[in-house]
Amino acid sequence: MTKNLIATIDDYARTQPDKVVYDVQGTKHTYAELKAYSDALAAHIDTLDLPDAPIIVFGGQTFEMIATFLGVVKSGRAYIPIDTHSPNERLTMINEIAEPAAAIAVVDLPTGVGSTPVITSDQLAAIFATPVDYTADHAVSGDDDYYIIFTSGTTGKPKGVQISHDNLVSYVDWMLSDDFGLPAQPNSLSQPPYSFDLSVMDVYPTLALGGTLYALPKAVTDDFKQLFAALPTLPINVWVSTPSFMDICLLEPKFNAENLPSLTHFLFCGEELTHKTAATLKKRFPAARIFNTYGPTETCVAVTQVEITDDALAKYDRLPIGYVKADTQMLVVDENGEPVANGTEGELIIAGPSVSKGYLNNPEKTANAFFELDGQRAYHSGDIGTMDDDGLFRYRGRVDFQIKMHGYRIELEEVNHFLAQQQHIEQAVAVPKYDKEHKVTQMIAYVVPKENDFESAFALTTAIKKDLQGMMMEYMIPQRFVYQTSLPLTPNGKIDVKSIIKEVNPE
Ligand code: AMP
Repeated sequence: MTKNLIATIDDYARTQPDKVVYDVQGTKHTYAELKAYSDALAAHIDTLDLPDAPIIVFGGQTFEMIATFLGVVKSGRAYIPIDTHSPNERLTMINEIAEPAAAIAVVDLPTGVGSTPVITSDQLAAIFATPVDYTADHAVSGDDDYYIIFTSGTTGKPKGVQISHDNLVSYVDWMLSDDFGLPAQPNSLSQPPYSFDLSVMDVYPTLALGGTLYALPKAVTDDFKQLFAALPTLPINVWVSTPSFMDICLLEPKFNAENLPSLTHFLFCGEELTHKTAATLKKRFPAARIFNTYGPTETCVAVTQVEITDDALAKYDRLPIGYVKADTQMLVVDENGEPVANGTEGELIIAGPSVSKGYLNNPEKTANAFFELDGQRAYHSGDIGTMDDDGLFRYRGRVDFQIKMHGYRIELEEVNHFLAQQQHIEQAVAVPKYDKEHKVTQMIAYVVPKENDFESAFALTTAIKKDLQGMMMEYMIPQRFVYQTSLPLTPNGKIDVKSIIKEVNPE
């Protein structure tokens, strides 16, 4: 059992100072450096006399990001990771919602953050370069927030999920248990952006075990040629990604056990792992273990796991999401919150020590989604599922209009909120297009345009997309626009989104 994660990680600087903790395309950093950098930053933050509030950390897939996270929590504050690929509007909004004590620009900020004090990238480099003696005696612990990850919100405002030190420890201890049988000191792929909670699946179990993170920056993963060239050079044994990222890697025929012989574990989370993806992967890596895991950011990364063996592939057409971790309860309930019989569909409720205390500075949304069950924090996942007699859970879809596309969590209402603000749009809704494996392949906007002089629908779409680019994350922008003179309405006068979804996805 991990007592204090920060102390556990720091201790490797004593027991294995020269061991590489982070390797990004051959540039390496050790555990000794991780402690030295994070100590220096924590000492600096301590001198600033900042209010007791979280700190924004802005950057990409680098060692300095990880060292900054650790420096912030050593100084007793939570960090809010924001990826460099976020639009300015998102940074502005998170800054407004979080009212942070400071912002640390691991990479220079692309826009102002009002009166929030900023540690610039140059200042940070100077801080890191000046070693100090530091005792981490007021680091984040217990129920204190450790990190806050912002997810899509229905009103166009992202929601900041507060994850405490003990939430994270509950999660990490489970990852280190026999449920996964990870290598003693894993060499893990670090590919998902640090603003996405899936990254916690590679970062913290690896650091807690004194292993090494092998980072793949977005510039590499966005370019298939670079990506396919980089993959066989990675001496990794643990793979963490969304199934969608795996689908891209599987396009490369040489992505197999022959070229990556050390890979023993594939861990997936964040969206449905299709039978097709798992079966193809199993063929390429027959001896490796594949795990499907499930969980919302609000319950700290994942709460169920199941190994997808050859037997499982033979037995299930749609793969199960697994068995719940030992310290947690997952229930399937009806609209009244009453547990349903095994095998019956209902909403998945998650209760246990990894469940978040709620959304930062948003008591209303917190009260809607979180509650107490048998003395433990519980969360309404909004996911529909079933449980078999032996406790195996299966995923069936959503109760609301949240979707997953390429692993990204998107509230369609948030997309609609941005569409509605566009100068060329009278009325619009975004709907998902599913493939036969239940994955969203495209988001389609049904739009009633305002009167305009565009010579073609293509020109109109180009103009709308351009406007959207400055406002919302790239992955939230619909890929297709369908123009209509009116949209169907429900009897009480709202846009009938469900009928449009049916039209786009005929049975
Ligand atoms: P996020 O908060 O981004 O991790 O998204 C959580 C949501 O992703 C869940 O509530 C599910 O709707 C979906 N999800 C996560 N893991 C899985 C999985 N293994 N299978 C199906 N859906 C998943």
